[in-house]
Amino acid sequence: MTGASSSSQSDGAMPRRVLGMLGGGQLGRMSALAAYRLGLEVVGLCPEPDAPLTQVCPSIIQADYMDFSALDQLVQRCDAITLEFENIPQDALAYLERSGKLRPGAKLVALTQDRLSEKQAIERAGLRPAPYRQVDCVEDLARALDSLGGQGILKTRRLGYDGKGQKRLNSSDDLQREWAAFAVPCILEGLIDFAWEGSVIVARRSGGLELQAYPLVENRHENHILSETLAPAPQASVDLAQEAERQARVLAESLGLEGLLGIEFFVTETGLVVNEMAPRPHNSGHWSQAGASVDQFEQHVRAVMDLPLGQPQVLCPTRMVNLLGEAALQQTQWLATPGAQLHIYGKRGVKPGRKLGHVNVLMPKD
Ligand code: AMP
Repeated sequence: MTGASSSSQSDGAMPRRVLGMLGGGQLGRMSALAAYRLGLEVVGLCPEPDAPLTQVCPSIIQADYMDFSALDQLVQRCDAITLEFENIPQDALAYLERSGKLRPGAKLVALTQDRLSEKQAIERAGLRPAPYRQVDCVEDLARALDSLGGQGILKTRRLGYDGKGQKRLNSSDDLQREWAAFAVPCILEGLIDFAWEGSVIVARRSGGLELQAYPLVENRHENHILSETLAPAPQASVDLAQEAERQARVLAESLGLEGLLGIEFFVTETGLVVNEMAPRPHNSGHWSQAGASVDQFEQHVRAVMDLPLGQPQVLCPTRMVNLLGEAALQQTQWLATPGAQLHIYGKRGVKPGRKLGHVNVLMPKD
């Protein structure tokens, strides 16, 4: 019996509702755990045999994302299908979209896979991205550097994250050599002189019935990787927090979001600049597991399963610390820390910078 066909049963039994999850990483694992809390079932699809999701989810289809018979199975077994990372092949997303069960939609996900279309979407929503130029050859790069004041960050349009596929450049660099190291479609971004970095997570229920935002948080990075989040952002004025939330809502509406969107901002003297966005739970939202009345993973599940959204209330200011690489081996220290809640993702390999877990530490209220 499939969950999808039995969801309307009325024989006195609890209805079965099944969520499909594309991707087996920690975001999928934590979304699945939240789904189980709501009595839902989860079917995961990922190619890796021992991914974090597979350790908590008894129903895994281990297959490539382009395995169309595996995608058919997912459609048959699930009421709604979502994703935990955005780099799912577009053909797979387009195929799933035909079932009417994919949330967020294929177009929105495709748009966030490409830094150029992402920035254009930010502009269409009336918001301000970092200045950028399209770069497809070394001549473009030279022109772009000139027009952005002689310095910038070259970023691959696709498959860049946590600082990967990026290089800071200025006009005195050997551009021929720098370009040769990339040689794929890129953008050059102007350097933003920011005071601090923040983010907002917004949830929009399937069909656009409801929208809820989490408060602006402050994010600190090490080597371009998120190391800490402070929630709510201690440096934010009321006006700034409201403006960030407004922009997040505008973007979610403009994109026709169904699900969750994490929006990263640079906070500058002249206001907010949108850095990037991700159509899924976001690392800077992990604090909500301890500090908010509804966490981002449950909110993700509610949004894509067309359930009423929670109204996120801050229960306690929270500091989220990412456990990167060897830092994840210091678990006893965190287990002994009052007010600390430890999350370990079940990844085996300890490599520098790899996200292996996080800790949510409840902070004193003042
Ligand atoms: P990204 O993967 O694009 O979010 O970049 C990772 C980090 O690099 C950001 O969180 C910033 O700390 C820094 N960064 C990226 N783009 C810029 C920019 N245009 N100006 C200044 N810093 C940047």
